[in-house]
Amino acid sequence: MNALRYDGHDLRLEDIPRPEPGPGEVLVQVQAAGICRTDIEIVTGGHGDYVAGRARVPITLGHEWSGRVEAVGEGVEHLKPGMLVTGETGIGCGQCELCRRGHYNLCPQVTETGIINRDGAMAEYHLHPAGFTYDIAGLPFDQAAVLEPATCGVYACRQGRVTPADRVLITGGGSIGQLAAQAARAFGAWQVVVTSHSRTKLELAEKLGADAALQSDDSLLQAARRVTQGEMFDVAIECSGSGSALGDCVQLVKPRGRIVLIGAAHRWPEAPPPGRIVGAELQIIGVRGSPHVWPETIELVRKGKIKTGPVISHRLPLAQWRQAFDLVQSNDPTVLKALLLP
Ligand SMILES: [Zn+2]
Ligand SMILES: [Zn+2]
Repeated sequence: MNALRYDGHDLRLEDIPRPEPGPGEVLVQVQAAGICRTDIEIVTGGHGDYVAGRARVPITLGHEWSGRVEAVGEGVEHLKPGMLVTGETGIGCGQCELCRRGHYNLCPQVTETGIINRDGAMAEYHLHPAGFTYDIAGLPFDQAAVLEPATCGVYACRQGRVTPADRVLITGGGSIGQLAAQAARAFGAWQVVVTSHSRTKLELAEKLGADAALQSDDSLLQAARRVTQGEMFDVAIECSGSGSALGDCVQLVKPRGRIVLIGAAHRWPEAPPPGRIVGAELQIIGVRGSPHVWPETIELVRKGKIKTGPVISHRLPLAQWRQAFDLVQSNDPTVLKALLLP
């Protein structure tokens, strides 16, 4: 089968043997696999687990995916051939203290599909642990492939304890920002405001239900005061990875505000002023992956409370992976989620 493999230096499409499902595993014929900033981080040599030597190579990339069950291994009851499925990224050992407490995303032995020590889904077939695989019958396969980033938005809202009383700021209008904003809306947030440099992304955020969409430039502080009637935000979810956006979050939340950081790609050229974090008792909350929120997210997507379709901007055959990666790396604001179709 064809698989997009990273060997520590280069990415290339290789012909490798199709895997067989062992006990507790499911073999999936991949329908679509999304390209994420994390994939770009890996192939450009910036991913922490690769820099530290914890992530082994070669690896097949691809942690955002949907596919049809081709075959199941021994002991797998809830999945049958032909079912449309997707699956979780972070998979713990199930034995250690963190796993026993439910924090399997933080397991010291964690494998992350297509990221750390587990082959991903940018391939014709993908092997996944059945216990981390979900039936998504009824969803279009391309929209289903964007469930993973939607779960990250839902998990960020959970970790940020978003309630109907809260004004929520989302910094960044990429696919994660658009999905996190919809998740905050689905949590009943009082107000959802998205910031971005791109007019195209701001327009999309408004179309998808944000109460306001603000340019992240010098006018932001004033605009934020205006749209919140001077109250500012209870929760900020940082989805852009930029240091200046983190600075915006620190400035724009009210005292005791919660700032949630999604993803590990944050670059902080300008460190946030500790004075405000301490002086206003701000809480900075890191989130890794999206444990425990998959069934809930699938429900929200099924009900149309989170729309994943509008964040898909490109669909390319797996053979055109190079073009797709170039698109995602470009600064073109019309590029949101690019899907590879094996
Ligand atoms: Zn991702
Ligand atoms: Zn563990």
